[in-house]
Amino acid sequence: MIAAIPERIPRAPRESVAVSLAATLATAPCTALHFGQIAPVGIVANLAAIPITGIAVPAIALALAVSTVSLPLGRFLAGGADLLLGAIDHTARAAAALPGGHLNVPRDAVLGWALALLLAAAVGRWGEARHRQLRPLVRRASAATAAFALLTLWPLAAARWSQGALEIHAIDVGQGDALAIRSPGGRWILVDAGPGGQDYDAGRARVVPFLLSRGVRRLDALILTHPDADHFGGAASVLEAFDVGAIVDPGMAAGKPFFRDLVRGARHRELRWIAARAGKEIQLDDLALVVLAPEERRLLDERAGTNEVSVAFRLEYGRFRALFLGDAPAAVEEELVEKEGAALRADVLKVAHHGSKTSTSEALLAAAEPRVAIISVGRRNRFGHPAPAVLERLNRHDVQILRTDREGTISLSVRPDGGIVVKTQR
Ligand SMILES: [Zn+2]
Repeated sequence: MIAAIPERIPRAPRESVAVSLAATLATAPCTALHFGQIAPVGIVANLAAIPITGIAVPAIALALAVSTVSLPLGRFLAGGADLLLGAIDHTARAAAALPGGHLNVPRDAVLGWALALLLAAAVGRWGEARHRQLRPLVRRASAATAAFALLTLWPLAAARWSQGALEIHAIDVGQGDALAIRSPGGRWILVDAGPGGQDYDAGRARVVPFLLSRGVRRLDALILTHPDADHFGGAASVLEAFDVGAIVDPGMAAGKPFFRDLVRGARHRELRWIAARAGKEIQLDDLALVVLAPEERRLLDERAGTNEVSVAFRLEYGRFRALFLGDAPAAVEEELVEKEGAALRADVLKVAHHGSKTSTSEALLAAAEPRVAIISVGRRNRFGHPAPAVLERLNRHDVQILRTDREGTISLSVRPDGGIVVKTQR
């Protein structure tokens, strides 16, 4: 790596740049595949971070060793190491805030580039072994042409493979909801954006990287089922990262400051805002989203909490049906059963309220008869979700249960005849 940097630059900076460049290049394929991004800014950031790490790691080891002899002295040294770790953190944050420091690279593109490089290497070797009489320039040109042809055809092939299927992804965001729907024509809707608050923002940490890795640039709609932080907390980061066609929500002006900030931010960008009401229908390519709840009168009911006004909708695609119930409680489910009857039948059920015992009633399961149930829930969450009673009810109805706490991100690929292929992260 160091040989690639001009020799007239003195050795010490040359070495630093080489280490930084090597660290960024070596991790680029991993960050591209997992986060859908590469960070050229890392080359500059590492120049500062690597020397600090070089002091911080021995300092931590020294603090640990000294603390076995003298705890106060160990603490004192650990305090110094903490300052160094803080400096690394500041460097990373400053670098992350630089515009243009990160490039979005869809996973398909990474795969295409990897295949093109392999093909170029193979053609080069083949030329060397079989056609030695050709000039090296001609051999190199044929390798480059082969790679170029593959890169040109790749997007067409990738588009063809992914066409004709509806995708539903339950993104693993911990305790909360974030479900991405991709139409067969390649348009995206996000249902909730995961939890967010002062300490953790699932929007930034999980939802945005997932969508970027799928090549998403724009969301046709962001549906925020209700104003609870485990559903809209990550929305600000999502709005920042993508062009969003419209926000769909129950239109409940709940007083949580974080939600008010979101509303202000969205107004600032002149986003379209659609109030979800039972009966409303949203068409997207071959998909229909039929809003089942909330009813207008629930919003007028002063006793109604945020869960009661959750946006619930049915996703229709060919013969396939899926129910998304937000955090709707059993009372709302039972109203839906009464109103919709057999129309509530669904292949897939996004279980309401993370599998809480207050939802997924017997009446709902009897009417919907789902084949697959998705439970979006955090590992060892403090609410005891999903409730054993709900799991038992689902088992009694012979429903395949998929849980984000166990399986990680869950992806369903659905054909128009209703056939479902399940892929899970773990
Ligand atoms: Zn919730």
